[in-house]
Amino acid sequence: MKLEGIHHVTAITADAPGNVDFYARVLGLRLVKKSVNQDDPTVYHLFYGDERGDPGADITFFEYPGARRGTAGAGMVHRIAWRVASEDALAFWEERLRAEGVATERGDASLLFADPEGLGHELLLVETSDQPLIADHPEVPSEVALQGFDSVRAYTFDPEQSRHFLEQTLEFSPDGEATWEVRGEQRGSFYRYDRTDQRGAGGAGTVHHVAWASPMDDHEAWQKRVAEAGASPTPVIDRFYFRSIYFREPSGVLFEIATVGPGFDVDEPLEELGEHLSLPPAYEQLRDRLEQVLTPLPDTHRQLATGGR
Ligand code: ZN
Repeated sequence: MKLEGIHHVTAITADAPGNVDFYARVLGLRLVKKSVNQDDPTVYHLFYGDERGDPGADITFFEYPGARRGTAGAGMVHRIAWRVASEDALAFWEERLRAEGVATERGDASLLFADPEGLGHELLLVETSDQPLIADHPEVPSEVALQGFDSVRAYTFDPEQSRHFLEQTLEFSPDGEATWEVRGEQRGSFYRYDRTDQRGAGGAGTVHHVAWASPMDDHEAWQKRVAEAGASPTPVIDRFYFRSIYFREPSGVLFEIATVGPGFDVDEPLEELGEHLSLPPAYEQLRDRLEQVLTPLPDTHRQLATGGR
């Protein structure tokens, strides 16, 4: 049984309109689902990804309006790395981010930057045979677009405390000192640690959890296996777009295992993903009220491109 790499990464924002502006307009991702927090429907849960909302390129945000900035520390993901295809792509993003007033740091085959709330990102020039997961954007040619996740980097006091669980229970494959490859039949990605002696604090600009992708038929077996390893997973929870279990790995990072389907087109057509407010069935009766209290969001690139559909 193998996991198919990163399914999605979920982080926290205090500013939904600014978040849409950065991820949809500047980074050129598609807003593929505009929904609400299933525990508090008066605030958003926003999902960005490739054109089809595939697992492997999906970054999501819980909105906590007014939340203080957090700081990543032990047991938290502190950087999200995305694949790009060429040196030209790195140059394109260095220039585009500079023009937006975003500080960047260029490495050999990488470009580091942070979102407006301090969440760390890296664009990595990598060779892979995995399918590129790309969104259409009028200002971002597809040759230079983000192609989905390469990896996440997490802080830990000691990577060794997680090794047994990652390798024996989750079947991550070691790939260097504090790096593991998570690869299934369709695609894969990497999980990397950096050592720290600092504890962090959750808040705006920090990652809440990382989800790994499971084929539909393996999901219940993953729940059992994680339970047998003593990691106390939640029961399987139906998130409508996928099914999920949650647990902490030994370094403290909150993991989710999410099914690859049914996908974001389960409640709206593929062409209209993210354009309307999607509500879980239990909240549908509150739609009129929620549409009044939720902060209006800026038009995404799709609406700009089509003159406001
Ligand atoms: Zn999640």
